[in-house]
Amino acid sequence: MHLRHLLPAALLLSMVSFMSAQSPSNATNMVVVRLIGPDGQPGPVIQSPRVIKTDAEWEKQLGLSVYRVLRAKGTEAPFCGNLLDNHKDGVYFCAGCELPLFASSSKFNSGTGWPSFYRPFASENITEIRDVSLGMVRTEILCARCGGHLGHVFDDGPAPTHLRYCLNSAALVFKDEAEVKKMRK
Ligand SMILES: [Zn+2]
Repeated sequence: MHLRHLLPAALLLSMVSFMSAQSPSNATNMVVVRLIGPDGQPGPVIQSPRVIKTDAEWEKQLGLSVYRVLRAKGTEAPFCGNLLDNHKDGVYFCAGCELPLFASSSKFNSGTGWPSFYRPFASENITEIRDVSLGMVRTEILCARCGGHLGHVFDDGPAPTHLRYCLNSAALVFKDEAEVKKMRK
């Protein structure tokens, strides 16, 4: 076969190997989450593509202050976040990928200076990992879809769960009831 005919095949092969290196398999690139259902409550579990971006892409999308929290595991200073004193009805979404993470109905005043919730919008939407940084053993919470750092969860919250999800405002985007209504599926 002439070289002219071989080249496209070689190119195709290298593209396929590049793509498979980027996407090992479809299964690992999907995550099970719940979106906002028709009644405003968590909908059925669905498969959603994992949101994967480079650090440069995240920084461009988020801006430096949000990037530092969401992608570099920073913690904002207490009593400084813009959502601490937000008492409106609505839903708090991931600032990175717009996954619904917490409903206003589970927000409470913890006195810590960070927005606090006693349960997530849907347990599927939050990933918990052990965090041993800063000489402490804590449970870090991440967005299940984009892996963004949200904060930590502690077991000193109020009833009924006795959990305290301690969030950085920068990791969240709040949408009020009217905005959430438009997102119902
Ligand atoms: Zn996310």
